[in-house]
Amino acid sequence: MATAHKYIFVVGGVMSGVGKGVASSSIGMILKSYGYKVTALKIDPYINVDAGTMNPTEHGEVFVLKDGLETDQDMGNYERFLDISLTGTNYMTTGSVYLEVIKKERALHYRGRNVEVVPDIPLEVIDRIERAANFADADVTLIEVGGTVGEYQNILFLEAARMMKSKHPDSVAVVMVSYLPVPGSIGEMKTKPTQYAVRTLNSAGVFADIILARAPVAIDDKRKEKIARFCNVRPEHVISAPDVESIYDVPLNFEKEKLGKKLLTVLGMKTKKKSDMSKWKSFVKKVHSPKKEIKIAVIGKYFATGSFVLADSYLSVIEALKYASFHAGAKPILTWLDAEDFEKDKKKLAQLSRYDGILVPGGFGTRGVEGIINVVEYARKHKIPYFGICYGMQLMVVEYARNVVGLRGAHTAEVNPKSPHVVVDIMSEQKKKLAMGDYGGSMRLGEFPAYLKGGTIARKAYKKEMVQERHRHRYEVNPDYVAEISKAGLIFSGVSPDEKLMEIAELPEKQHPFFLGTQFHPEFTAHPLTSQPLFDAFIKAATRKKN
Ligand code: GLN
Repeated sequence: MATAHKYIFVVGGVMSGVGKGVASSSIGMILKSYGYKVTALKIDPYINVDAGTMNPTEHGEVFVLKDGLETDQDMGNYERFLDISLTGTNYMTTGSVYLEVIKKERALHYRGRNVEVVPDIPLEVIDRIERAANFADADVTLIEVGGTVGEYQNILFLEAARMMKSKHPDSVAVVMVSYLPVPGSIGEMKTKPTQYAVRTLNSAGVFADIILARAPVAIDDKRKEKIARFCNVRPEHVISAPDVESIYDVPLNFEKEKLGKKLLTVLGMKTKKKSDMSKWKSFVKKVHSPKKEIKIAVIGKYFATGSFVLADSYLSVIEALKYASFHAGAKPILTWLDAEDFEKDKKKLAQLSRYDGILVPGGFGTRGVEGIINVVEYARKHKIPYFGICYGMQLMVVEYARNVVGLRGAHTAEVNPKSPHVVVDIMSEQKKKLAMGDYGGSMRLGEFPAYLKGGTIARKAYKKEMVQERHRHRYEVNPDYVAEISKAGLIFSGVSPDEKLMEIAELPEKQHPFFLGTQFHPEFTAHPLTSQPLFDAFIKAATRKKN
């Protein structure tokens, strides 16, 4: 391990879901504000080799990196808070680590010796962490260990942390994000669960340097002292982390307790310069002082899911809508509408005119599809700003083919491969993969270039001719129908360099204020400080409709 690099492990105590990802992102953002180069890794303790095969309603959104790896939503938080883009070296799962070790063993990498779970698995983990640090040339590398201490699943990752720290005690810090409940019946914050969590962590040979006290309210000095006494940390190293109105407040709150300086001290680092969070602060100001509300309907298949689940499965889309809205001085009010509601009863479509914009995010499968097509038709005819992402673009093309081009029964092969007009078809290399049962990490994934036609909404928004955006799909607009559909007025304003793949479709601005779909996922590149051009254009159109 090159000792020039410093490492911070972030582990969870007591329970999951208390914002370890946001805490890690915030720590990274703070250290960056001190002029340090920061990168971040996420470790997921699953056997799944990547997050691509996990159901988003259970595990949250699948976040696609520019190199195409399908990862956990926390990777999106890192990219957004740190305003960077990460690669596959920044993500690992138990499955991917074992897979690598087994591949190496088969290739005689271990030269005939016994390959053991310990130390070979933690050593592979350490190798990956160091690779990510080197690749990013990072001063500080954050490693968020998924799950909670005490889980059987993440013990090998804690072992990696222990091994790194025992070898280079001055270069590794450990932060525990713990939860301190305030039981309603007592009305007082309890530290005991955190004490147990710290002991569990200690039993793995790992000691926390800093404890972030996640709780409904700020932790008081008395309890800081108590945690210090029982958990071997200094009282000033117990940092208050109360619930906040917005996650963007988190780094600012941490800095009120000088978390950045404290971490730098633990790592034996000097403060190079004063922390500069001015851009972040002005963004947060916009978050807290919107002048108007923009009503956006998001259409999908939301059978039996609560809004909590939805917020997780469409995290990047929601964030992208927020950034664009905040920058436009507005607050987005999102309403989730179930596509199936619009399937049989077309009268229900009338409620859509209440919204300033309609968004159809990515999706898969058959359910709700006819409802979405009806929504697209309504948005087109009633000139409601429409933004279709991936499936939302493909179904926009289907609608146009059916109702404007006059191709009766037009469809996507995903739903009806026997349609007389398969206007969205499976990509040929995808056909082979599926026939072989090759489902994991096999879609068209990651960043690909698109060329933008002059004079279009897309070109005006991006203000450049070539863009790189991230993809995750198996189907595409059928090239055999492109000429006919274009002739009928739909513009393919973004195309792949060989002009074979249609990346963006739109109607001329004169005809419709914003009727645009992208084959790629623009939400993955929207950051708070640099929001995404197409989301900005959509929100601007929605604002115009509102006015
Ligand atoms: N189901 C479509 C496809 O595979 C769209 C995918 C998506 O929306 N991410 O092409």
